[in-house]
Amino acid sequence: MTAPCSLAEWHTDCGREPSIRVGVVLPADEMRSLRIDLPPAPYDLLVDGRPVGRMRDRAAELHVGQRGVQWRDDGGQTVAAGETLRLVAAAPAPVQQGSGVRLHDVVTGRGFHWQKRVGFTFEGVLEFRAVAGRLLVVNELGLEDYLQGVITAEMSGRCPIEFLKTQCIVARSWVLAHTEPKHTDLPIDRCNDDCCQRYQGTTSWRPSAAEAVIATRGQVVTDAAGHIIDANYSKSCGGIIEAPEYVWFTPKTCQRAAVDAPVDSPCRRFLPVIEDNLDDFLGGGWLAGADVFCSPNIVPDRDLPRYLGSVDEGGGHFRWTVTYSRDQFENVLRRKLARVFAEPGEPASVEAGRILVADLPPREVACRVPAIARLSDLRVVQRGPSGRACELEIEYEDRAGRRCRVGIRSEYRIREVLHEKFLYSSAFKVSIERGGDGTPAAISLIGAGWGHGAGMCQIGALGMAVRGYSCRDILTHYFAGVEIRALY
Ligand SMILES: [Zn+2]
Ligand SMILES: [Zn+2]
Repeated sequence: MTAPCSLAEWHTDCGREPSIRVGVVLPADEMRSLRIDLPPAPYDLLVDGRPVGRMRDRAAELHVGQRGVQWRDDGGQTVAAGETLRLVAAAPAPVQQGSGVRLHDVVTGRGFHWQKRVGFTFEGVLEFRAVAGRLLVVNELGLEDYLQGVITAEMSGRCPIEFLKTQCIVARSWVLAHTEPKHTDLPIDRCNDDCCQRYQGTTSWRPSAAEAVIATRGQVVTDAAGHIIDANYSKSCGGIIEAPEYVWFTPKTCQRAAVDAPVDSPCRRFLPVIEDNLDDFLGGGWLAGADVFCSPNIVPDRDLPRYLGSVDEGGGHFRWTVTYSRDQFENVLRRKLARVFAEPGEPASVEAGRILVADLPPREVACRVPAIARLSDLRVVQRGPSGRACELEIEYEDRAGRRCRVGIRSEYRIREVLHEKFLYSSAFKVSIERGGDGTPAAISLIGAGWGHGAGMCQIGALGMAVRGYSCRDILTHYFAGVEIRALY
């Protein structure tokens, strides 16, 4: 076997497994110190490339100081400091659940409704740096080992093996296709969170993860021309798989809108979901017997927690309702719109008297944050075939009593703005209860699915595996016309 190369050097025909640098604590997490526990196995520390010796203490604290990062022992004494600290295992150890170095209280689910702080364990090299006064922690390891930590974080290692193999090939394809440069300002290839792919080291490792990774070593999905496809995925499509042009404003090879059910499913009549069939799609009697792969009829809500990632809250994602009083909703809108408009380089623009927030390049940039004094209306302007809103309009009165509108063109921004944390999906209908004077008293969002809905539906893929479909069946259901190819 040839030595790994870096992901940056890697190319389709090189025949080698790349290594990957995963950001597991990012400067955006605003951490200036971090507690870690070392396992009994020997670890060496390198400061700016120089070995400083074997670490004897089982616990340490990393601090951002004046000279980069400081390593403090259990007693609070600084034993090493430098710009880059690298912690390297002196000898390879067998991977087990929870093996390696434990990082305490790190952020997961950054910015989403499931954000929390947890402890994670990592094998491979750990690198500590200070970036603009905040901590950056990088886990460097081989891509195949990384994938074991992805498939047990995105979902659980308790999932059927055909699902784990599928998730592994899809996750490997997404990394190697690399169509979406992210974190280009940091010395990492990907982050450990939903922004890229979830990765939690050995925290939830199970032998099934190694089995799935070994069984699919080097395998990716390609189009007919042999190009690795950008294999996107999300938790639950809600019944209809979304077309990528309604999520990213661009078509993608081998991805299209489709029904997430067998070919003869009654769900077929909902492709596309439009205003006329939306009520039936979201709450109709057909749901009781629906054969949709991601529906609770295939994987019951009570079984989901054992299949989901350890940081996910299980159940209720296939159909859901969020209800606000007008006050609550206006407060969420004010806070979220202010945050969106404050982002550097945020494309907010003015078009025909409306302020637009979009992921499209703006024609005109405005810095006016919508000043919502009183909400008047909330409307979905455009939907994709899965029913996901890709354009939304909020109508309100400003403090001077003027009628204003703000448009949001992006399923991601819509989910960000309409929820305290993050809305499950943008496939919803708006139900407004109005008072005697016509002003909204309560606003309900009645929705379907979890995530952008394009590419592979993870809970649907799980449902297929539970029903006995193979890895190949699942891949070709979600990605049209693909081939499976081993690159190393
Ligand atoms: Zn990321
Ligand atoms: Zn689905």
